[in-house]
Amino acid sequence: MECEMIGQCEFINHYQNQNKIVINGFINKYCKSKESSNKCIRKRLMSILEINNKIPINMMPNGLCYPGTDKSKWSNEMKKYYFIQNEG
Ligand code: SF4
Repeated sequence: MECEMIGQCEFINHYQNQNKIVINGFINKYCKSKESSNKCIRKRLMSILEINNKIPINMMPNGLCYPGTDKSKWSNEMKKYYFIQNEG
């Protein structure tokens, strides 16, 4: 069973047609298995925030920014949660 968020994940929806190699790699590693998807930083943050659209669209499942983008548009709240997740 795949990640239950796959139909509403903004990252996948936004980038899936832009760089297939990168996105397909993440889909294969995280999204195709519910167990693996529990390691996805986006999914962890969704469970904390309960609002999908607060997650920066350019945050990849490993928590890093999509290549060529940065955290400059991330809210302070998101940076705080991101820090907590990566410290934990
Ligand atoms: S990127 Fe994360 S939250 Fe989005 S569909 Fe894949 S595993 Fe689920």
